[in-house]
Amino acid sequence: MTNKLKYFIGNWKMFGDFGDFKIIHKINRFGYESRKLLKKKKIILCVPNTLIHFFKKKLESKFISLGVQNCHYHEGYGPFTGSVNAAMLKKAGAEYIILGHSENRLEGESNKLIKKKIISSLNQKLNVVFCIGETLYEKKRNKTFSVLRKQIKSSLKKNFNMNKIIIAYEPVWSIGTNKIPKMNELKNIIKFIKNDFKKILKTKKYPKVLYGGSVNDINIRLFSPISEIDGFLIGGASQSSKKFIDIVRNYYK
Ligand code: PEP
Repeated sequence: MTNKLKYFIGNWKMFGDFGDFKIIHKINRFGYESRKLLKKKKIILCVPNTLIHFFKKKLESKFISLGVQNCHYHEGYGPFTGSVNAAMLKKAGAEYIILGHSENRLEGESNKLIKKKIISSLNQKLNVVFCIGETLYEKKRNKTFSVLRKQIKSSLKKNFNMNKIIIAYEPVWSIGTNKIPKMNELKNIIKFIKNDFKKILKTKKYPKVLYGGSVNDINIRLFSPISEIDGFLIGGASQSSKKFIDIVRNYYK
């Protein structure tokens, strides 16, 4: 159930400009200086679509992978004003894509739509970071497990290439709020996701499951004892090279 490689995925959201390559550059230098550490820790930065091609061309790094944060579900070109598809993002340099983020679910993305996006991203051989999580309303009504099960069941299919899918458990009430779950509850939820995923999708292996929600350079130490967590999706703190590097450094597994 425990993977040796731990993922540290930054989600820059709608932040960042060309000059912020300096953040990537500093993280890359840290990666170079800590080559040994990075045998067990993988760094991925998911940036705005406007920056992916520029960063990719400038980076030439084996220590950092780059990704994006959403796409249109349609696989070819089409009359979808303002949208980009997975193929365009792949060509621009993305290796990873975050899908199903609660900020997009709140804007109306359904499980069914997310499934279409996952299919088109997998067809482009992108690695999918699939976000699931309950709202505070659902948590208070003890619906966490049923919500997570529904999100997995309705967006993933047995024949998907599961090696290309990473689950990010992100309780909605924890994103950008400085609130994190109780560690014993979190451990049980991560275990539930792993077991349920394996059962529902009839896979041989457990999936990789990350935690996301208000992770920072200080509280990261609290997560270290939960060996079932395969890494972290980091929002706000990934826009500072210092905080992001300290998260990677301070996590001791
Ligand atoms: C996120 O948006 O995926 C996230 C985890 O945000 P934050 O770390 O800022 O809570």
